[in-house]
Amino acid sequence: MTTAITHYIGGKHIAGRGGRTTPIFNPATGEQSGAAPVAGTADVNEAVAAANKAAPGWAATTPLRRARILNRFLRIMEERIDRLADVITAEHGKVHSDAKGEIQRGLEVVEFATGAPQLLKGEITESVGTGVDSHALRQPLGVVAGITPFNFPAMVPMWMFPVALACGNTFILKPSERDPSASLLIAEWLTEAGLPDGVFNVVHGDKETVDALLHHPDISAISFVGSTPIARYIYETAAQTGKRCQALGGAKNHMIIMPDADMDRATDALMGAAYGSAGERCMAISVAVPVGEGTAAALLAKLEPKVRALKIGPGTDPEAEMGPLVTRQHLDKVRGYIDAGVTEGAKLVVDGRDFRMQGYEKGYFIGGTLFDGVTTDMKIYKEEIFGPVLAVARAPDYATAARMVNEHEFGNGTSIFTRDGDTAREFAHAIKVGMVGINVPIPVPMAFHSFGGWKASLFGDHHMHGPEGVRFYTRLKTITSSWPTGIRTGADFVMPTMK
Ligand code: NAD
Repeated sequence: MTTAITHYIGGKHIAGRGGRTTPIFNPATGEQSGAAPVAGTADVNEAVAAANKAAPGWAATTPLRRARILNRFLRIMEERIDRLADVITAEHGKVHSDAKGEIQRGLEVVEFATGAPQLLKGEITESVGTGVDSHALRQPLGVVAGITPFNFPAMVPMWMFPVALACGNTFILKPSERDPSASLLIAEWLTEAGLPDGVFNVVHGDKETVDALLHHPDISAISFVGSTPIARYIYETAAQTGKRCQALGGAKNHMIIMPDADMDRATDALMGAAYGSAGERCMAISVAVPVGEGTAAALLAKLEPKVRALKIGPGTDPEAEMGPLVTRQHLDKVRGYIDAGVTEGAKLVVDGRDFRMQGYEKGYFIGGTLFDGVTTDMKIYKEEIFGPVLAVARAPDYATAARMVNEHEFGNGTSIFTRDGDTAREFAHAIKVGMVGINVPIPVPMAFHSFGGWKASLFGDHHMHGPEGVRFYTRLKTITSSWPTGIRTGADFVMPTMK
């Protein structure tokens, strides 16, 4: 028996006219748990019409009132966090405590967005000329859309819509077709919090739906998070259709371990950062770079037994540290990468391929996997695996380690473990990556800062949430006014200058 999922348009559940559906599976059992409709052009048009209709009223709602609605939503979410986490665990597979963690990080963006009146304050310069003043203000864009990946079904949408709504825009969310139910609870709870109908809408689907959003003339901006090839496509298509766009892509995050690092702390950090959420995090550490042979030996001696001892189980097991992968296809892909690593000559220290979860034999489980002797020409070094596979790529010195990070295609996150202030400062200053950790393995910025990578990890000019989010979701208007009108200057035919 499967559950039918609906679109959410204009404050109502809508079955949709697309006809096509996508299946949803429980990754722990491998059983189909539901199906989501695929929105075609007609459904997307309906969602945009609802968002367009709601836009003038929402833009005219004072920032303080918008903030109050977000505040009520925040309280509802806090009360029902377990229910939302249950839904995430059932469709994504991650352990329940991790699901709660992602909701918590998303709620911090809602908290940030409740500062809307403060965030939207403009600038004024008195007397730019005699009797002339200038002020600059930020106004909403109108209807904006968010397209999100499977790995954070609550947090990534919450990087986007709280700021977009706080700034006075109306929003259409296209969540991942693999775990779409969280977005529906969010939509219902926003309505319950008092959000007017049509201000937040959800359409489900795949490429067909995304293309309908990209080509709709009434959508002003697109926020995207997902893999790099799709991020590039979204950014290029949005540019062609005249939309503002921020498109966050994939990652391959390195952690450098210096010889002076606290090795116990570094190992624990690596375990959580490489294997938490089964490695399905864009900020997961997938490459460990120990500097010097002694560091490598010490690190591997501590790491290997911990990887073997990982507690793997269904996300509903409170003891489990790591759940299954999201789909059968993704499991096959990750196994394929491990095969490729072996073929290319990397040393497979811990092999997760044959792991079987007792009682869940049809689930998409894989064991923690550890490679040593990985080199920069290998596929498992160059490509994002997005699974619980950690590659140890040794470096003889800091300069080589830093060059590896800088020369990699991706530039999302990176981290260094050291006790040396000079090295840490040099790393923070010169490394070519958007988010940097010093003795912090997953340096995800807090909501009041902004999230985003460099290089092939982000296409566009704005990072997400924080001050960058406010800039993305507003456009600047600068007003120059002359008072009192009694001042007469006569006609002037040269370029205006302030006298
Ligand atoms: P994905 O690119 O397959 O899908 C992301 C979204 O794009 C989904 O909504 C999907 O329906 C849509 N989509 C898929 N194929 C499409 C196509 N051909 N045309 C148009 N739209 C399409 O990504 P995923 O597998 O859901 O998520 C994992 C990826 O997301 C990883 O690469 C991960 O690094 C990345 N990610 C990045 C960040 C970041 O902040 N940089 C955060 C989370 C995840």
